Amino acid sequence: MKVPLTWLIAAGIVLGAAPFLGLPANYESLMYLVFHWIALATSWNLLSGYSGYFSFGHGAFFGIGMYTTATLTTRFDVPFLWTLPAAALIAALFAIALGAVAFRVRSVRGELFALLTLAATFVVATIIVNTPIDGGSGVYLSAVPVPVLSPRPSGTFYLMALAVALVSVVIALTVYQSRFGLGLFAIHDDEDVAEVMGVPTYRYKLAALALSSGLAGIVGGIQALFVSYVTTADTFGVTLPLTVVLMAVLGGTRHWLGPAVGASAITALLYSFTSGDSALIGKIVMGLVLIGVILFMPQGILGRWARRPHPKPPRTATTTSTMTATSVKSEQSPHAASIAVPAHVPGAMPADVLLRTRALAKSFNGVNALAGVDVEVRRGEILGLLGPNGSGKSTFINVVSGHYAATRGTVDLLGTHIAHLPAHRVAGSGIARTYQIPRPFAGLSVLENVALPAMFGAERLSRREAEAQAWQWLAFTELTARAGALPDALNLHQRKFLEFARALAARPKLLMLDEVLSGLTPTEIDAAVALIERIRARGTTIVFVEHVMRAVNALCDRVVVFNRGEVLATGLRAEVFARPDVIEAYLGKPLEATAERAAPPGPEAAGMIAHA
Ligand code: ADP
Ligand code: MG
Repeated sequence: MKVPLTWLIAAGIVLGAAPFLGLPANYESLMYLVFHWIALATSWNLLSGYSGYFSFGHGAFFGIGMYTTATLTTRFDVPFLWTLPAAALIAALFAIALGAVAFRVRSVRGELFALLTLAATFVVATIIVNTPIDGGSGVYLSAVPVPVLSPRPSGTFYLMALAVALVSVVIALTVYQSRFGLGLFAIHDDEDVAEVMGVPTYRYKLAALALSSGLAGIVGGIQALFVSYVTTADTFGVTLPLTVVLMAVLGGTRHWLGPAVGASAITALLYSFTSGDSALIGKIVMGLVLIGVILFMPQGILGRWARRPHPKPPRTATTTSTMTATSVKSEQSPHAASIAVPAHVPGAMPADVLLRTRALAKSFNGVNALAGVDVEVRRGEILGLLGPNGSGKSTFINVVSGHYAATRGTVDLLGTHIAHLPAHRVAGSGIARTYQIPRPFAGLSVLENVALPAMFGAERLSRREAEAQAWQWLAFTELTARAGALPDALNLHQRKFLEFARALAARPKLLMLDEVLSGLTPTEIDAAVALIERIRARGTTIVFVEHVMRAVNALCDRVVVFNRGEVLATGLRAEVFARPDVIEAYLGKPLEATAERAAPPGPEAAGMIAHA
């Protein structure tokens, strides 16, 4: 992890010495351009490559930086170097104002976000050109003294651009390796799931945008002095954002160094054709190279290295599931220890309530998926949540976990209202869930998928600790051999267990399992049932949505039966299953077939209900 940083510092020292060793001035100017584009492309990538929010507004932040420096140096005689922090700050403040609005609206993603940022660029340009900031005639900086950092002004520009390029790349590397970075990549892959797993998506996007635009502002400030004549026409076009996007995509947006590689390649290519009449040829060649890369290397030049090296299990982590089952059991989490684990006596329920919903409702365009349910989950129990397809079980989990906001009603976790908290705070308060249709982060390895909730869930472990624990949960769910794989490479059974491992890694107080057993063989079900028992023994309370009656009978003392979004019955399993209305809800009417499930409860359930 430290190796790339050491190399970057070494490169910085060597490159920084060049102007003092008599580098020809035209090379200094070429290198200025290379560094300039490295800083712009890398800063763009912090938001757009990492989190997937493609911005076409980088020119706006860059331009704001340019005009900040131009205004402060020419009108207020502020020494040039002092204007650079101001350029960063004003660009970042503008970005935060933009993001504070755009990021609140769920639908502003993808191309809408790109268009919005482009529109913001034109708004900024219009304001600047029609106010005394520019006044329509541009701003001359030719009288502004260039600070003396090296023997020649071209060396000074070289050094300033080198510094901001290095700072950008070091920030990109640091973010890439941090909790923040993993959160951004999770937002890139599935923002809603990231939020439900505890990633404060709004804050993260805003921070990435502010960082990205602040750096662009500094680059703009330096460029203002470099070109010494600033106009809105040259500043706020689409050329800059387009170039930056192409550079980053060429190099690889999922790699911290990708944009720098792309920027160097394109700048060198363009420069090598600028002599004589070959500028046009240069642009054509650049276009062809880009087409080739997009067709044959869609992940960019560094795409194949963008994923972290295949992780290896730490020596302490055992790899057989039986051994780790005991080791996970023995290292109880602090909060698990603090919850009194009730003895498992069938029929005798612990009195205290962990979670309670009152009149909880959710409707989708007038369809009442949940029509006001009162459910109590008691500490330490496994509560079976049953009901025919479409009866609202998954919606219940979606609303309690914050994936969807409730239409009305309350949710209390240990006396705290959580119904209107953002989903990441619900996760932080100790609720984890699985998705009935697995929703892994497609660009993260299996190990990273499991480490993420450990870093963002109730316990907020460091990345190292989280990965160490993730190995244990992978062994627990028999996924150790697939740790380095991408989720796409897993079969359905493994994807279900990956969901399971992710929810467990959050170390929740309340774990909500949405049909984790469907599609498994009887032997696999037995193993999973034993696993769920062990989790409950650790002090975790479980809400268990399942159609596999064998598992329900083995695990659940109390059950709640939903029908058409309402609670039909609640109580001890044997009593509830004996009720005629429950049997009718399952068997008396034709079951609505949904695409979600392969088979209705069918004869197996009928037999089980009859036996119960
Ligand atoms: P279950 O999990 O019990 O099978 P669900 O909670 O998935 O049932 O669905 C309950 C009802 O809500 C169904 O009629 C379903 O079509 C509807 N529903 C669930 N999610 C959505 C959604 N995102 N948009 C529209 N309707 C939905
Ligand atoms: Mg469901």
